[in-house]
Amino acid sequence: MRRVVVVGASLAGHAAGRALRRLGYDGELLFIGAEPHRPYDRPPLSKEYLAGASVELSLEASSEDLDAEWLLGQPAVAFDAARRTVTLTDRVFVADGVVLATGGFARPFGAGRTLRTLDDARALREAFATARSVVIVGAGFIGAEVASTARARGLEVTVVEALPTPLAGPLGVAMGAAVAGLHADHGTTLICGIGVDRVLETAVHLADGTEVEADVVVAGIGSRPAVGWLHGSGLTVDDHLGVHCDATGGTGVPGVVAVGDCAAWFDPTLNRHVRIEHWTSAGEQARIAAATLLGQDPPPARPPYFWSDQYGLRIQFAGHALPTDAVTVEEGSIDERSFLSVYYRAERPVAVLAMNRVGPFARWRRKLST
Ligand code: FAD
Repeated sequence: MRRVVVVGASLAGHAAGRALRRLGYDGELLFIGAEPHRPYDRPPLSKEYLAGASVELSLEASSEDLDAEWLLGQPAVAFDAARRTVTLTDRVFVADGVVLATGGFARPFGAGRTLRTLDDARALREAFATARSVVIVGAGFIGAEVASTARARGLEVTVVEALPTPLAGPLGVAMGAAVAGLHADHGTTLICGIGVDRVLETAVHLADGTEVEADVVVAGIGSRPAVGWLHGSGLTVDDHLGVHCDATGGTGVPGVVAVGDCAAWFDPTLNRHVRIEHWTSAGEQARIAAATLLGQDPPPARPPYFWSDQYGLRIQFAGHALPTDAVTVEEGSIDERSFLSVYYRAERPVAVLAMNRVGPFARWRRKLST
């Protein structure tokens, strides 16, 4: 393998390039990125950066030299997997190995602002500097973090969520209620269980006829994998799950792997493909897929993990929860906003959630991995 092209020059793509070098790959390495920026970190965008703090966002270590070529601000527009040709608007690259790492984009909703890129965050930060109020559609991680940061900046905040509680999908309704309590503690108005019909620049129309006005409107309704350019590539791709892969990032086509938010890896424990949109998984998948590409033994996969910082508290979750799992609070209490809960399936622990319990969470996370 003498030429590897990595498409998507962000967290997963950069981590894959780094892993290839660490595993001894010494051929050509080319990163192609749609954004004009070198790899940067997204989690601070809804937290410290949006709060107005000065934050180091670069993912590259100052001493790091991957001996790579970077083509930035130029999206790949087509791919032929069998031939391993990556097409840009003005040229075509042929590679021996290709890493697909194009991540996701925020699902748009009407005229609402979205938060996925550094440019989105910069624009939202500027809007917050003069705004007095914000309404956020969606109480998922991004919506909840934007709400928390906006409150810390003194804005009046309303969050509208169609499900009965925030994060009802990943955490279940009971634990979602704990997160709802956190919003209430900090003076955020949370409207749950009502859909949104229209999103305008300074107002949101709810399905029950109510209108909520604000200086800024943010849509935080999830993301879609950035795989439109892969239709017709010969890979199995769908617009909700992304690129279908085996459990080590292989796409079924030799020399082509996919990692991070654009990929749906097969999870043998769930017996289906899953797209995991978490920072830690992007790095872990990159290391596994780099070994796959080089024909080396991949390191073992760990259960998915994410963290979220809201209202000064750290929320952490590891594993896969199903609505039918039994959830018990093992330590602390929801009322104190400091607890650790375990999700059991057939009496076996399958997931763990913690609010403000970093140490115990780390121990449980290790237990889930064994
Ligand atoms: P991305 O980071 O989306 O990078 C993909 C890159 O590919 C982008 O630069 C994109 O422009 C580029 N690209 C797209 N299409 C093309 C193309 N056709 N050609 C070339 N390049 C292309 N996770 C957590 O676990 N905890 C958190 O607290 C947390 N906070 C977050 C806060 C925000 C605001 C966001 C947006 C995400 C957060 N995440 C968090 C999720 C985490 O950042 C993502 O899972 C991670 O960024 C995924 O990395 P990726 O490289 O797969 O995708």
